[in-house]
Amino acid sequence: MPRRCAVKISTESLSLSLRHPFGISRGVATVSNNVIVRLEQGGDIGLGEAAPSRHYGETGASVARAVEIMARELPEDPLQLETAMSKAESTIGRSGAAKAAIDIALHDLAAKRLGVSVHELLGLPRPEDRITSFTIGLDEHHVVRQKVLEARQYPVLKVKVGVPGDVRLVALVRELSEARIRVDANAGWSFAEARRKIPQLVDLGVELIEQPLPATHFEGMRALRALCPVPIFADESVERARDIPRVAACVDGINIKLMKCGGLREAVRMVAVARAHNLQVMLGCMVESSLAITAAAHLASLADHLDLDGHLLVSNDPFAGIEVVDGRIRLPEGPGLGVRQREAIAGGDEG
Ligand code: MG
Repeated sequence: MPRRCAVKISTESLSLSLRHPFGISRGVATVSNNVIVRLEQGGDIGLGEAAPSRHYGETGASVARAVEIMARELPEDPLQLETAMSKAESTIGRSGAAKAAIDIALHDLAAKRLGVSVHELLGLPRPEDRITSFTIGLDEHHVVRQKVLEARQYPVLKVKVGVPGDVRLVALVRELSEARIRVDANAGWSFAEARRKIPQLVDLGVELIEQPLPATHFEGMRALRALCPVPIFADESVERARDIPRVAACVDGINIKLMKCGGLREAVRMVAVARAHNLQVMLGCMVESSLAITAAAHLASLADHLDLDGHLLVSNDPFAGIEVVDGRIRLPEGPGLGVRQREAIAGGDEG
């Protein structure tokens, strides 16, 4: 039964340190300044996480502000997920990471209230025997060599490209590893560059190309797709469900991330829209702790490909949840997300 008392909400900043500087075509990151949201009601606690992205105009401060605004609108009954997220949409609009944090925390709280796990709350099976890729960021060759050797246990690698010399980088990874290889250009190529490089990458065994061109170059992607023997996936071109129809004829699949779309509810909607357009689905992530990665993993049964490695890239993950063994994900038991906090979060309360 719903307990008619207000949901108490608080946020904390969480500065995640990357094991290696994380390079993509747009730049290099060494930390991710995330925000943890905690909802409390009648002794139950729901946890959520936001990984703000500069690319989408977000910062830790903007997320904390957005969460504060949404906090005033939360329904007393956490099971009213649709109502809560519709209000979030109308009050704060676009901030995907802030909405994701609230959405994840509400799902955790609602599922705990019912004594079920989040995937059960969503009517989904527990994912079995699913493999996640592991990302190799852009770097000097000797560092990439080190990263690939450290990633020996992962059967699928996602190599960041989209800069000069990237084909040689993939050739190096190919030389060092027998893993399946996907590449992600993060919108870093021109059409001519993509057209020249894709055949070379396919010759190296690359099995999937993510976001070859800038986000709105739909016609270019459509033309590339006609030439490309392996699937092309859109990431930056698609933030949420409403973005899918315009890319549907241009790509083979989309990368769905909780932080882009605003949480589990919108992610499930995106899967439905993608399937209606005959698109494949990858479930991806930003640099996130085990908290948000575990939330995404509850949707794993809906995806063709998983790229849920954000927590594996950081050295100070304060949460325990999803485990990855030889690239295979294992969801924690227990109600809600099944995530527990294993150490205090350094970073201080943001109010
Ligand atoms: Mg990507």
